[in-house]
Amino acid sequence: MLPWMTENFGNPSALYEEGRTARDAVETAREKIAHLLHAKAKEIYFTSGGTEADNWALQMAAAAGARIGKKHIIVSAIEHHAVLNPAKSLERQGFRVTYLPVTSEGLVLPEALEAAICPDTALVSVMYANNEVGTIQPVEELAAICRMHGVWFHTDAVQAAGHVEIDLTKLQADFLSVSAHKFHGPKGCGFLYVKNGFRPRVCWRAARRKKASAPEPKNVPGIVGMAAALEESLINRDKKDTFVLELRRQVAERLLSIEGSPFKRLWGSWRAMKVQQRAPTLRYDTCRYCRLPVPTGCAATNISFNGIEAEALLLYLDMKGISVSAGAACSAGALEPSHVLTAMGISPELAKRHDPHQPG
Ligand code: PLP
Repeated sequence: MLPWMTENFGNPSALYEEGRTARDAVETAREKIAHLLHAKAKEIYFTSGGTEADNWALQMAAAAGARIGKKHIIVSAIEHHAVLNPAKSLERQGFRVTYLPVTSEGLVLPEALEAAICPDTALVSVMYANNEVGTIQPVEELAAICRMHGVWFHTDAVQAAGHVEIDLTKLQADFLSVSAHKFHGPKGCGFLYVKNGFRPRVCWRAARRKKASAPEPKNVPGIVGMAAALEESLINRDKKDTFVLELRRQVAERLLSIEGSPFKRLWGSWRAMKVQQRAPTLRYDTCRYCRLPVPTGCAATNISFNGIEAEALLLYLDMKGISVSAGAACSAGALEPSHVLTAMGISPELAKRHDPHQPG
């Protein structure tokens, strides 16, 4: 990334030499990304991250659906807000939205999806991997069902890309969203895969609309860094997975060793854990299905403590230098840390220091 931040400041849309060189770097990155996902370079559209890619996919597919009289959309109930919020916005615009429930392990059942599809369904959006419990969905099967019914399929692969093998020749998705900062790439960069053949007119119109706010891809260092990070993340996947899985095992073991934790007896039993009510107790959600061994972004290990609010615990842990999320980082604005700390009897000065809404 460094040459694009320190030496070549050329505009990739420009015709002069620095611009052409920058454009070449963007196109090389596009080809590398496409190659890693077994896609075509022209199917990769750069965005500012996962949120933009998700919003764009839903809006583009909804607009295309409405044009042919299809105004029904299905999203899973556990989608990230980058999908849920545009779905709600489409609902306000007159679309019918089905929020597909999941099993207690966070899985979307293919038969439930098939039953929810109607003749006017335009789009199904089911995330590849969940950002809170790390459950990996049977996306290939879900995409195949959509294809069979002539319904577009979008998957938010923000938590999966770089951590699992994504082969777009097997996964029949029409749209797929990715964000670079989930695989140690630069923040503020991502892309949307749009399957070649998706009514290009609609696609181009959306791209042009996007062009009005963000013309050609300009984030040269971000795009170059994203391609390199994706490649590195996939090359080192086995080594990284072994390491992270071992870390996860150690965390779980140490939590289990907490004195008096009745949780020990419940280890491995999902149902028993669900009914566990004794306080103070700890519940470690051992989902039997695939989970992501992801070192960044994804809370692949989902832990509950009874008898304390997540936010209060989160801030205590933060003071100990341990970074924990109590849900998607984007919904953390709902949290009022200074209020929580004040309620915990912590001085207003310290509370102020921990309040992200305070300047500085
Ligand atoms: N989708 C999922 C599943 C996520 O976990 C996130 C962010 O955590 C997003 C979308 C939004 O991505 P970005 O932060 O790049 O906008």
